[in-house]
Amino acid sequence: METDGISLKGPVLIRLPKGKDLLEALAEAAASINATKAHVAVIGALEKTKLGYYLQDERRYVDFSFDEHVEILCGQGNISLKDGKPFVHLHLTLSRKDCSCLGGHAMAGSIIFAAEACITPVAGDALVRGFDEPTGLFLWK
Ligand code: ZN
Repeated sequence: METDGISLKGPVLIRLPKGKDLLEALAEAAASINATKAHVAVIGALEKTKLGYYLQDERRYVDFSFDEHVEILCGQGNISLKDGKPFVHLHLTLSRKDCSCLGGHAMAGSIIFAAEACITPVAGDALVRGFDEPTGLFLWK
């Protein structure tokens, strides 16, 4: 596969470092393989978590912090470019100690205990995010 002069080798499996911010670690992993358009999946565990929920009527995120250890049952998202840098959009389904679930839009402040990610680059031009007036969000152009 060849796109924009970059050779895409297919899915890449990466172990992310303990103690690091999950979104930051994924963005750095994406940059290290020049992924500007990719699917991302992650499982593992977090030391603490920050999730967001977008209030559509108010056009803003409210965030929720969880200072407890959780398992990442399912982390699904994508990588595109925002302001010229890899931007990770990730949703998380998490398990608490009693196996009940919580979930939401991953925000900065989710700290890795252990995480295994799969980044799957997609061929073609880079996906670029820009402000979308009808939603108030930064969506794909
Ligand atoms: Zn989201």
